[in-house]
Amino acid sequence: MNNKLENPSRRRLFRGKVTPPTPSLRLPWIKNEDHFLSNCTQCGDCIEACETNIIIKDDAGFPAIDFSNNECTFCDKCHASCQQPLFVDKHDIKTNNPLPWPAQLEINNQCLAENNIFCQSCQDVCETSAIVFDFKKSSIPTPTINLADCTQCGACISTCPQDAISLNLTKLEITHV
Ligand code: SF4
Ligand code: SF4
Ligand code: SF4
Repeated sequence: MNNKLENPSRRRLFRGKVTPPTPSLRLPWIKNEDHFLSNCTQCGDCIEACETNIIIKDDAGFPAIDFSNNECTFCDKCHASCQQPLFVDKHDIKTNNPLPWPAQLEINNQCLAENNIFCQSCQDVCETSAIVFDFKKSSIPTPTINLADCTQCGACISTCPQDAISLNLTKLEITHV
């Protein structure tokens, strides 16, 4: 068994130092990555506006989402604070772009339940009940994500003691229309 599984509580001590994934998740409902990089002025207003402090600057100085400490409430304050035309039209969100990121939530093999250690922390924080546990794999119930019910809020990502959950971009070149 590796050190992460032996010392899950220690992971919380170092959570603030977790490096965000590459490529970066940008702000919710941007048009696309190329357009974002060409038009974001790196002013930092969205970072100041975010009510859950999940926007950081990436190595190049652009804003990126870091779910390691908190979730996105979809408050829209980053969008409201931004002076640049980086986002999809609001009326277009519900019809064509219901999800904030062209990404998919995944659970990797660091999950405690997948390693026969009881844990249901992710399910406990999921407001849409998108994470279900069953006994298909072993005597310890293991999680499955129902992507149709996942809002991509990131609450489960910040809660997982193993950092086993991530929101991974699936089609960076396409993104929102
Ligand atoms: S929608 Fe709100 S909580 Fe989410 S990143 Fe933007 S400012 Fe932060
Ligand atoms: S407020 Fe807009 S222009 Fe300024 S850093 Fe954030 S996304 Fe870029
Ligand atoms: S990211 Fe999805 S699965 Fe995780 S807590 Fe939010 S809605 Fe639930």
